Amino acid sequence: MFDDKNNNIPPSRPPLQTGRPNRFTLFFFLIIVGVFIAYFFKPNTPSMQEISYSTFTNYLERNEISSVRIMDSGIIEGTLKGASGASLQFKTLIPYQDPSLLPTLRERGINVSGGVSKVGPLRIFLELLPWIIGFGFIWFMMRNMQGPGNRAFQFGRSRAKRYQDEGKKTTFEDVAGQVDAKYELQEVVSFLKDPQKFTRMGAKIPKGVLLVGMPGTGKTLMAKAVAGEAGVAYFHMSGSDFVEMFVGVGASRVRDLFEQGRKSAPCIIFIDELDAVGRTRGAGYGGGHDEREQTLNQLLVEMDGFDSKDGVIILAATNRPDVLDPALLRPGRFDRQVIVAMPDIKEREAILKIHAEKIPLAPEVDLSRIARATPGMSGAEIANLVNEAALFAARQDKPTVEMPDFEEARDKVLMGVARKTLVVSERERRMTAIHEAGHALLHYFLKNADPLHKVTIIPHGRALGMAMSLPLEDSYSRTRGWIEDRITICYGGWAAEKLFYDETTTGTKQDLQQATEMARKMVCEWGMAEELGPITYGQEDEPIFIGKEIARHKEYSEDTARLIDGAVKKILEGAKSLAESILLARKADLERLAEALITQETLIDDEVRSILGLPPRAGLAEA
Ligand code: ADP
Ligand code: MG
Ligand code: ZN
Repeated sequence: MFDDKNNNIPPSRPPLQTGRPNRFTLFFFLIIVGVFIAYFFKPNTPSMQEISYSTFTNYLERNEISSVRIMDSGIIEGTLKGASGASLQFKTLIPYQDPSLLPTLRERGINVSGGVSKVGPLRIFLELLPWIIGFGFIWFMMRNMQGPGNRAFQFGRSRAKRYQDEGKKTTFEDVAGQVDAKYELQEVVSFLKDPQKFTRMGAKIPKGVLLVGMPGTGKTLMAKAVAGEAGVAYFHMSGSDFVEMFVGVGASRVRDLFEQGRKSAPCIIFIDELDAVGRTRGAGYGGGHDEREQTLNQLLVEMDGFDSKDGVIILAATNRPDVLDPALLRPGRFDRQVIVAMPDIKEREAILKIHAEKIPLAPEVDLSRIARATPGMSGAEIANLVNEAALFAARQDKPTVEMPDFEEARDKVLMGVARKTLVVSERERRMTAIHEAGHALLHYFLKNADPLHKVTIIPHGRALGMAMSLPLEDSYSRTRGWIEDRITICYGGWAAEKLFYDETTTGTKQDLQQATEMARKMVCEWGMAEELGPITYGQEDEPIFIGKEIARHKEYSEDTARLIDGAVKKILEGAKSLAESILLARKADLERLAEALITQETLIDDEVRSILGLPPRAGLAEA
């Protein structure tokens, strides 16, 4: 129904070359069945009767045996003279060393010969059967370990999925926003449509284009759209598909992938998650890094070995361009980088529109308001949000998806699912209400703060409640005033608890953490502390596309460290006392707000405004 993050490339039709493992398995199975049938129903032509050794000696005594054949396996085959009829074949096993046997045979003048027991092919097969079954089982396990849909005994084959330009094509229309990326990729599209046009002019087309962007920004989607736009075949393989437990497999898969690509030119080879194979060599950790290096080397070799004149363009995607081996980024390889950026407010609205088309939407749903309420969400998260909203609506048997469904979906995506059934004691609920009311109230009495979106005491995820603000637009830089107000709002919960209970709870942990982090950044990164000046302290090893700090090198003296701590503390103290004084002055308002929260659980901006006696935010809140 809807795409989700994990299944980002729904094949427009099933990949070709399916069914091969099935045919193989069937064949294997038929052979075994056939052999069994042949074994159990074989006509017993050479009817050789098995007799005991004593019966044999009896025959010998009675002189009824005409000839014997002593086999190397200790079996005597023989023919009876046939007093009882025609010559009868028999065989018997010699159970013990019988020294009198040979003299007796000779005495009676019986024709004695020797023989080597013949082993029929059937016998060989039956003896091998346990081994065949054993190996078959191991093979089966390995195939399963590699995931479904793979071909038997073809470890070295690339498992690239090929998508033909049938069915519904993905085009640039399906990718909202991303104007810059589309513009850059348009060149690749026009080249693939008519390679001659470019080669005639002697123009050089990049062999490899690297799509760089945070997870979920639509890199995979974009690559697919390029293939769809150009109307060429598209081979999709994820970097991790190359890496297998056997050394050399990855390399041969790379070879095979390029082989396939060359055969079906013009086409696109798309290597998703390139960083899985493309990490800097020599920086391997754990096992199997030899294998990864071999794979990478093969990739480099293949990329050198062909020309974009052949009509094959290699796209790759990564969210860690910083860890890629520099050799990959050299001219002649992935020398062109296209940034796939996080969507801004307008683009989020466009993405919402694309995905909302697939669900029945209530007419009052305001996509631009949802876009505004989802800052920092990626395309994939927005697609997921729409899906969640549809699920919420479906669960309640509604005919259309309404605004509250989107609200709930957003809270779930951001904070975890609402735990309406979590049992919270009355006292705890009251404290939460006071705490959240403290956050909420401050939104209205700080000059630079974003307007409040809503405040709730319904537990979400691990939080017992929350107060959310709703920025009017995306901002890429923040003023000092805004940050200070944000820190003050963080202290709202703490200050309210202190004001009413004269003690605070562990529920303030997150707030205090956030406040401290922001204050530290003000001092160390944004140069906002007078006593330290506009200098950054400590350099962070923050890869550009990862929102995570990995380490911070400390490269300042102990004295400076003390100054930094002092400055941070000063900012936090200031915010704390500002929050305390505002809440103290409006203690009655705060109490009313908390009461309303206890009865209503969730209050939106305008409801809070009417409780506080403020005019409604004309035309904004419900625009
Ligand atoms: P990435 O490969 O960058 O991690 P994907 O291409 O897998 O991201 O995106 C996952 C899903 O998110 C897509 O299948 C699509 O449904 C949605 N999506 C992401 N970006 C966009 C966009 N710009 N327009 C429309 N849908 C998008
Ligand atoms: Mg992807
Ligand atoms: Zn709080």
